[in-house]
Amino acid sequence: MNHNLFATFARRMQQRGDADFITTREARGYSYAQALATTAHLAAALSELGVTPGDRVAVQVDKSPETVLLYLACLQVGGVYLPLNTGYTGEEIRYFLGDAEPALFVCRPGSLDEAQRITAETGCPQVATLGSHADGSLMETAAHAEPREAIEPRDANDLAAILYTSGTTGRSKGAMLTHRNLASNAETLAEVWRFTETDRLIHALPIFHTHGLFVACNVTLMAGASMLFLPKFDVEVIFEELPRGTVMMGVPTFYTRLVADDRLTPEATANMRLFISGSAPLTTETHQAFEAKTGHAILERYGMTETNMNTSNPYDGERRAGTVGLPLPGVEVRITDRETHEELPQGEIGMLEVRGPNVFTGYWRMPEKTREELLEDGFFVTGDLAIVDEHGYVHIVGRDKDLVISGGYNVYPKEVEQVIDELDEVEESAVIGLAHPDLGECVTAVVVPRADAQVDEARVLDFLQGRLAKYKQPKRVFFVDSLPRNTMGKVQKNQLRQQFQDTYR
Ligand code: ATP
Ligand code: MG
Repeated sequence: MNHNLFATFARRMQQRGDADFITTREARGYSYAQALATTAHLAAALSELGVTPGDRVAVQVDKSPETVLLYLACLQVGGVYLPLNTGYTGEEIRYFLGDAEPALFVCRPGSLDEAQRITAETGCPQVATLGSHADGSLMETAAHAEPREAIEPRDANDLAAILYTSGTTGRSKGAMLTHRNLASNAETLAEVWRFTETDRLIHALPIFHTHGLFVACNVTLMAGASMLFLPKFDVEVIFEELPRGTVMMGVPTFYTRLVADDRLTPEATANMRLFISGSAPLTTETHQAFEAKTGHAILERYGMTETNMNTSNPYDGERRAGTVGLPLPGVEVRITDRETHEELPQGEIGMLEVRGPNVFTGYWRMPEKTREELLEDGFFVTGDLAIVDEHGYVHIVGRDKDLVISGGYNVYPKEVEQVIDELDEVEESAVIGLAHPDLGECVTAVVVPRADAQVDEARVLDFLQGRLAKYKQPKRVFFVDSLPRNTMGKVQKNQLRQQFQDTYR
């Protein structure tokens, strides 16, 4: 049997024929039959450009339907798809290409000169371009190539993709994902989220990240559903499209922006059956406000580049605000001591570890990091601290690297942030640990006040008296206009720690 994920997708695509696969607002989409045909041309182009099984194909292009077909073509020829954040600069691309040593780099038409300079230095033999309007040299090569029908035989454990992590806690690492990793997760998610051929997914996420690429596109393909591809999240466009969609996948900032809009009503969302959130924590407040305004309980799930998705709130049954739900079928979850990896009793906070067919095979060219985080018994150390409640729901309390150890006491930033956020004058907050001569680390709050609100340090510190143990209370409170976030809505605490690093020195 051919375990190439594309073999499964191709069967589905054939069955779906003239049904929509990807549509755009510019009416420049693909039916399943058209997508299959163009993929065959792109697969031939990749072979012509020298891509052989196991070769990495690095891609930094704008979001377009053709980008998805390039991903499929790469699978078809047995290549390893390696998407890169569209925000990376030439300097960053140099690092990634040097690290990944791809056989081909596909870049935007406007970046060709720079790409050629970089690939000459890093030794990547081929460069092609792909624009967001089906333009560029890759599409030209594809158009002239004899379409390829054959699907390269792949073992379940062969690599299908290398995705770099978001770099929230340090330098991005390349996560090696196999055909089995991607297939198992897509099948599971399509089932637990009840995807069918009649679904139309509103897709406003980037497609260089696991959320927009694997969660969204693979699940759509598994189900034979369709997606509306939007270049970015634009509230105006979302309200126009909600009546024609059935599912939306988003990062929490999508939902906070929708909740702040008066147009969010039960009528506006009447055609939608499901709103999914992930990539960063969705606050209880946003979850509740969204439900109050629409009647829809947002379904929050939790995953990461290395594992795809691990837990999800249930489709039927309670979607608990502030939790990431239950382990997915086939995924095992345990909470362990941060240092010994010994399992802790239910109800204690510890390191979240996961095991299952979704868990990657290691970090690209980082054997030591792989050994540290991928344990011998198959559990992966996620780096997230969590607690499992009495109903089995997983609560993420924050990242291990964000844990503040002050005077020997563990302070979980999320707990402090939640109390600060209760203040009417506060929009949101981030709690960080900063170097301190006596305490080792000192709890520090960075607060975004609500528009027009009057709030100062004394007011925040006063509010925390009696609400939090002394050792959890920040020593200083700083005010900023907004928290630094990346495109996936993740707060960049590294940046905050840097900005305020000299506070107690
Ligand atoms: P790096 O590993 O390079 O530091 P990163 O962990 O941010 O970056 P990703 O793989 O994109 O890179 O993100 C995975 C992380 O996102 C998880 O480990 C977790 O901290 C966070 N995350 C994802 N979904 C949720 C969620 N629903 N609630 C809270 N955190 C989430
Ligand atoms: Mg990570």
